[in-house]
Amino acid sequence: MFSVPCGAPFLFGLIRPGCWLGSSLQDSDSIWEVIIAMIEKLKALLIEGEEQIAAANNEQELQMVRTALLGKQGSITEALKELPKLEASLRSEVGKEANRLKNLFTSQIESRREEIVLKASEISPEFDCTVPGIPPLAGSLHPITQMSYDLNDTFRSLGFEIFQESDITSELYGFDNLNFPPGHPARESMDTYWLAGHESGSGGERLCLRPHLTGASVRYMQSRKPPFRFVYPGRVYRNEATDARHERAFFQYEALVVDEDFKFSAGIVMIKSILSKVFGQDVAVRMRTGFFPFVEPGFEIDMKCLVCGGKGCSVCKHVGWIEIMPGGTPHPNVIKTAGLDPDKYTGFYVNIGLDRLVMMRYGVDDVRLFHSSDIRFLSQFC
Ligand SMILES: [Zn+2]
Repeated sequence: MFSVPCGAPFLFGLIRPGCWLGSSLQDSDSIWEVIIAMIEKLKALLIEGEEQIAAANNEQELQMVRTALLGKQGSITEALKELPKLEASLRSEVGKEANRLKNLFTSQIESRREEIVLKASEISPEFDCTVPGIPPLAGSLHPITQMSYDLNDTFRSLGFEIFQESDITSELYGFDNLNFPPGHPARESMDTYWLAGHESGSGGERLCLRPHLTGASVRYMQSRKPPFRFVYPGRVYRNEATDARHERAFFQYEALVVDEDFKFSAGIVMIKSILSKVFGQDVAVRMRTGFFPFVEPGFEIDMKCLVCGGKGCSVCKHVGWIEIMPGGTPHPNVIKTAGLDPDKYTGFYVNIGLDRLVMMRYGVDDVRLFHSSDIRFLSQFC
């Protein structure tokens, strides 16, 4: 049985290079040889571990070194595999050395980690702070929304109020109040999206997605006192096939003036000034008679196609002009429904097709692009 002399210096310094136990112990029997072999291993491990810690250049490498040295299957555990062969008191002493080595490595790894973090936060001398950075991605208004806002600004400057209401309306406000006869084809499901359960019935109880904005005008007039001067932008819905000029959902922008003495010619001047404001230039327009149940007289306003300059293209159906807005004087029946005397009040409607106006503004020949949510297309208008 071997015992360690009292006060035997099994201290950490023993396994440091140059502070070895001493050659006298190497002459002892196999137990001492086991001890010596283990301490040799720890000594070599000290040198190797310190080198590995110092060589780690980032936190990932450092973590790998930590696992290799201190993990359950790490080098220190490996070096102590012979420990169970020793007497309890010797196991304790060698175990203390191993723990000191573990603590030393833990401390060195933490110091190295702080160095790495500090170094990572330093600005490289090669960094050129005058080079422009990468700008962050930012959203922008959809070109149709932008057009709506531009029109709002224009109409506000002319003293108009901006009015908006729900996308869901009723047959009463969508058709009855606007002088649509009972059998008008626009009421049919092939043109109008009736809400589920509202395919039959009539009047205020029968709900649909608004097929146009004009119904809002009666609601506005019924709740306010004349004279009226207001606009109402919004999305409308038609159950129809899509092509380069048509979408199932699109945007309108309607304006209405109602007063005791409103000249039709004033409305025309208003239209020309709006188009000039939108396009930043005088725009050639022409008027044709047109029929709409809620106006009398009614007309169609065409503007010269800005995509082709009037030569003809797919947007203008190769005629050089594009229908941009219908309009007219509110029909006496509509004025009556609004609660006014049609002999006393008259006015002027225009209904601007926002999508087509935006197509003209930017020279785009397919309305479906604006509803495609394609960022590559939309980012051109930022
Ligand atoms: Zn054209």
